[in-house]
Amino acid sequence: NAIVTFEHVNKVYGNGTIALSDFNLEVNEGDFVSFLGPSGCGKSTALRMVAGLGEATRGEVKVFGQSPKQLIKESNDIAFVFQEANLLPWRRVIDNVILPLELRGMSKRQSKEEAIRVLEMVGLKDYASAYPRELSGGMKMRVSIARALAAKPKLLLMDEPFAALDEMTRQNLQLELLQIWEKANTTILFVTHNVFEAAFLSSKIAVMSARPGRLSATIDVDLPYP
Ligand code: ADP
Ligand code: ADP
Repeated sequence: NAIVTFEHVNKVYGNGTIALSDFNLEVNEGDFVSFLGPSGCGKSTALRMVAGLGEATRGEVKVFGQSPKQLIKESNDIAFVFQEANLLPWRRVIDNVILPLELRGMSKRQSKEEAIRVLEMVGLKDYASAYPRELSGGMKMRVSIARALAAKPKLLLMDEPFAALDEMTRQNLQLELLQIWEKANTTILFVTHNVFEAAFLSSKIAVMSARPGRLSATIDVDLPYP
């Protein structure tokens, strides 16, 4: 059951930079796919297309069989964590986390409880009432991750979400992510240049080459956990 497909996708930016060339990939329901490759190989470009940010120059990206640009406006089933944390600046931290939960129909009381739980998990319970501008970059990132995990979306897109975090927080969040993936049957697309993250978190690795933007291999991974 394909959730995301890249069909012969080429992406050339306005300045002539080739970011993806003949990129083909099929992501099935429940897959946890890491996009792994050196800086500049097109990982973010590929992920952003799935989120409806930027169109293919040639070829086609489809999400749930539809064009991502249209889908992203209508669907509460997709959550993303990009390097800019994308918090709503006029909303308190907790209200940023609650918003997608309420949009998904969760009650006020339940969404508040869940928001507090995930904020505690990322070590930011004490900042629940703060505004995003009062937080450091790493803290904003943690809120963004908490918000995405709380929403338990069908499709979760993450672009190097753990890169800027300390080791302890990183490990906690990696475990939480694995648990959510197993329990909630979330399909995850995950950009990383960290081989260990790719090998130990994902069920499939899309290895990309800087040649540029080509898929060199897809590797199926058995999770090393019992
Ligand atoms: P990665 O995520 O693997 O580091 P990117 O997808 O960010 O790679 O970038 C792929 C290539 O496209 C790089 O050469 C990068 O410099 C270029 N690129 C990315 N975004 C833009 C843009 N908005 N305009 C022009 N070139 C871009
Ligand atoms: P609440 O008190 O429920 O958190 P807010 O007053 O923060 O609600 O905002 C309610 C809605 O009004 C937001 O979801 C947003 O759509 C809009 N809004 C509020 N402030 C701004 C702003 N500064 N810029 C753009 N939209 C805003």
